[in-house]
Amino acid sequence: MSKSPASYRPETRLVHSGTLRSQYGETSEALFLTQGYVYNSAEECEARFKGEDPGFIYSRYSNPTIAMFERRMIELEGAEAARSAATGMAAVTTAILAPLKAGDHVVASRALFGSCLYVIQDLLPRYGIETTLVDGANLDQWQRAVKPNTKTFFLESPTNPTLDVLDIPSIAEIAHKGGARLVVDNVFATPIWQSPLALGADVVVYSATKHIDGQGRCLGGIILSSEAFIAEHIHNFMRQTGPSISPFNAWVLLKGLETLGVRVRAQTDTAARIADVLASHPKIARLVYPGREDHPQAALVKKQMRGGSTLVGFEVKGGKAAAFRVLNELKLAKISNNLGDAKSLVTHPATTTHQRLKPEDRAALGISEGFIRFSAGLEHADDLIEDLTAALEKA
Ligand SMILES: *Cc1c(COP(=O)(O)O)cnc(C)c1O
Repeated sequence: MSKSPASYRPETRLVHSGTLRSQYGETSEALFLTQGYVYNSAEECEARFKGEDPGFIYSRYSNPTIAMFERRMIELEGAEAARSAATGMAAVTTAILAPLKAGDHVVASRALFGSCLYVIQDLLPRYGIETTLVDGANLDQWQRAVKPNTKTFFLESPTNPTLDVLDIPSIAEIAHKGGARLVVDNVFATPIWQSPLALGADVVVYSATKHIDGQGRCLGGIILSSEAFIAEHIHNFMRQTGPSISPFNAWVLLKGLETLGVRVRAQTDTAARIADVLASHPKIARLVYPGREDHPQAALVKKQMRGGSTLVGFEVKGGKAAAFRVLNELKLAKISNNLGDAKSLVTHPATTTHQRLKPEDRAALGISEGFIRFSAGLEHADDLIEDLTAALEKA
């Protein structure tokens, strides 16, 4: 290609960026399922270890298939560098923990994926890292939480599961004024609808397990940032502690990227249609969908996102019993704690992903007993709407 792949539009980059074609000229990216590499001479081996020869050394550090996945993500996200990890949580934990030391302070939005909340609330304090949880939508709380030793801000937007949208540019500005970096978990938005680095964030993390695979096969994660951040804080930590992704999983995710744009667009269109039907449904007490005018942060969605969401949140009248009846009556959408899949998935957060929380903390996050998270898949929207309305009839 004469043009640099990074200069093409995102759809094109998703298909072509990062390809390392071997001497066999394969069309589809090769899976290099190898632990290590052999050298033509002791001199070449020495040069590789000295960093004078750019080749591969060991697959805990890097691997051609993993490098293709990272490069494609770098060019999609508009980052300078990236390191992939075995799971989304390996990526989140590394991005937060690796740059910190005892005595540092972290501020995070309270509305987090359960395991992210564990890292912030339980794990970091055990190593002498102080943490403060704030209501992410309240900019004053971020501002007031800043201390001289604050090093990292962490948030998710849209949040799980209530789909609140946080003001990334304003929170980044507060972080930077306080001498801290902003790390954004962009799983719910996907790289198709939101680019946190362009909005002022310093680091973006993904669970590639979700939309990037999108077909329920394997786990993976990735950290994207500047060359400086990756080199200074992430490279050595990952290389020496080894939360590395399998080349096989990286290959699945790399191929997943080729269809990410079309899948996320189709799933978002379906989710928007479901949201419109549920908005006026008599059995629904509350509906949240980023992309509708009645979303609590509708203006912010327009400002920082290019599209809505593949997820819909709604509260069924009648609490847990009614919500359980809906889940059990659904024929097409499957009960699962996962999301972003080709198959539509429904979750009851209060008894699954957020069951670890105290009831008052769940209430503060808007996770009522009747709240359901619906992840729209690639089925026909009419089939999903018929399935949902039939299940709601029985609630
Ligand atoms: C799933 C998820 C994670 C964790 O990813 P794994 O791949 O399951 O480890 C982190 N953050 C968010 C928002 C998620 O949805």
